[in-house]
Amino acid sequence: MHNIQNTSPIHRYDAVIVGAGIAGLSAALRLAQHCSVAVASKVHPVRSHSGSAQGGTAAALGNCEPDSWEWHWYDTVTGSDWLADQDAARILCREAPGLIHELDRMGVPFSRTSQGTIMQRTFGGHRKEFGKGPVARACYAADRTGHALLTTLWEQCLKTGVTFFNEYFVIDIDISDNACCGVAAWDIRNGGIHLFHSKAVLLAAGGYGRIFNISTNALINTGDAQALVLRKGLCLQDMEFVQFHPTGLYGQGILITEGARSEGGYLINTLGKRFMKEYSPALQELAPRDTVTRAIQSEIRAHRGIRGKEYVHLDLRHLKEEIINSRLPQTREICVKFAGIDPVYDPIPVQPSAHYSMGGIPVSLQGEVLADGTTAPVQGLFAAGECACVSVHGANRLGCNSTLEAALFGKRAAIAMQEYISKTPRFPAEPHQALSDAEKEVSFFLRAKGKNRVPDIRRNLQQQMADKCGVFRTHEGLCNLQNELKILKNQMTDIYIDDTSTNFNTDLIEALECGHMIEVAESVCASALARTETRGAHAREDFPKRDDNKWLKHTLIHKEKDTLKIDYKPVTVTRFDPLDKKRSTEYRLQSTDL
Ligand SMILES: Cc1cc2nc3c(=O)[nH]c(=O)nc-3n(C[C@H](O)[C@H](O)[C@H](O)COP(=O)(O)OP(=O)(O)OC[C@H]3O[C@@H](n4cnc5c(N)ncnc54)[C@H](O)[C@@H]3O)c2cc1C
Repeated sequence: MHNIQNTSPIHRYDAVIVGAGIAGLSAALRLAQHCSVAVASKVHPVRSHSGSAQGGTAAALGNCEPDSWEWHWYDTVTGSDWLADQDAARILCREAPGLIHELDRMGVPFSRTSQGTIMQRTFGGHRKEFGKGPVARACYAADRTGHALLTTLWEQCLKTGVTFFNEYFVIDIDISDNACCGVAAWDIRNGGIHLFHSKAVLLAAGGYGRIFNISTNALINTGDAQALVLRKGLCLQDMEFVQFHPTGLYGQGILITEGARSEGGYLINTLGKRFMKEYSPALQELAPRDTVTRAIQSEIRAHRGIRGKEYVHLDLRHLKEEIINSRLPQTREICVKFAGIDPVYDPIPVQPSAHYSMGGIPVSLQGEVLADGTTAPVQGLFAAGECACVSVHGANRLGCNSTLEAALFGKRAAIAMQEYISKTPRFPAEPHQALSDAEKEVSFFLRAKGKNRVPDIRRNLQQQMADKCGVFRTHEGLCNLQNELKILKNQMTDIYIDDTSTNFNTDLIEALECGHMIEVAESVCASALARTETRGAHAREDFPKRDDNKWLKHTLIHKEKDTLKIDYKPVTVTRFDPLDKKRSTEYRLQSTDL
């Protein structure tokens, strides 16, 4: 470590990884066996959102019943409403079993069958024989799968010699002449900007669920990496596709697992009626995630939410205490601790909650960031996990496929980075541009004594996004939102920051995050406005049908002189034909997406 400009420390590593979730740690572990690696994370690694994944990780191991990676592939493509790139989805499903065995050998405490093999359970949208019946494909560690994966990877990284910079907030990436030479980060604990100078950078900074008012996501999921990429003039892909989970705990969004409905829970409106009969007579509460989400939102809009409020009831009382305790203990605990109610005696208040960001930074199958979103990689810049879009989830992610994607494509990116690093004998120039841009931004905020407050701007942003770009969208609402976002962006130029200290200055962090959230929201809104169809999680009330002739393509969005520009690129179709209407519609009707 040495100083530049006498103040900013500079750390030099072959590879620098931004983010310590499953994607970042998978990559770090692999790279550390070959070169020097630093991981910068704005929170301690085990506080990354990956740790909240409960349900499991999908892989066609066939431990409990026959399964095939090709069935998994088919489910992933059809579940994505045909927008997934089939070559990427093929890699995901084909390589999943090998990856799970690798994680098992590493020490992930997977639940076991009586024969001692990894236990598997059924999960939404995963089916046997190309869409026939449910299949046990989710590998899990009780209801703490993400926690088990994250802590094991972290321990292995420590053992292998990865250097961690915890509580370092990355605020700028240095890209010049189409090559990346490092990042600038704010040291949250002690204050000050640090430079990370490297041959290769991996962005693994997670999703942007927090741009909505109600979200299952950790508070840190503010789309930082996506915003930084956008600011550098690079592309983002398919940003309009945000998955809403039907059952977030009212007012907080904490996830109430689908397991509650698969065990027999009912959804009830203020009239005491099981309304899912109207929306999906055959499957009712077990209809696909997007169907249940839209049904709940429709009831709320028709003033049939409980006492006219923005929630309905999920009723488990008829399941009785014994079943709730044995099968849904965490759900009971969450309700008691966070809502002050006991599902054995009270119905649970639930509402749709922003859950997963399908869109992100476009990457090649090797994780290289594509400057124009199609073919041209930025030298030395890679991305993986929820912040990237490779695209295996298309318009709608299948449950249990994203911890898999993060681990698998994190590892694949590391292999490509290792190759790149070994072919790059010298370090590039130091990331001075990132330093001066980061300094400008931080000093602006630390001196900001204007009239607007960041929490007000953020609250307004999240509410506007939920109201106008949430479960349902219209041309009018989105146009209106675009104007509101401009106002909010303008307000950010005249804010008041109370805290001017440098240690643990949460005012500063929130201001930086809010700036990122607005950039990301603008790209979600513009992409949603342009797509005049309904596909997967993107529901346009004014265009209620999927339109494959016009819209079987990925959205690409980038910035030119502060104006967003939209392009498109084709979906990669290899084996399954999206225009085989009969099969694709049948699938959507049968799916139970639990
Ligand atoms: C409640 C919940 C339940 C889920 N359940 C499942 C499930 O059962 N199965 C499944 O497959 N998927 C599930 N998912 C989705 C899955 O957990 C995530 O998509 C996946 O774990 C994301 O991993 P990641 O490594 O990309 O990002 P994350 O785990 O979100 O990690 C992001 C990292 O980036 C760091 N970071 C962010 N911004 C910055 C910055 N500016 N500077 C420095 N560091 C930064 C953070 O500190 C963090 O370490 C669930 C998600 C949620 C919210």
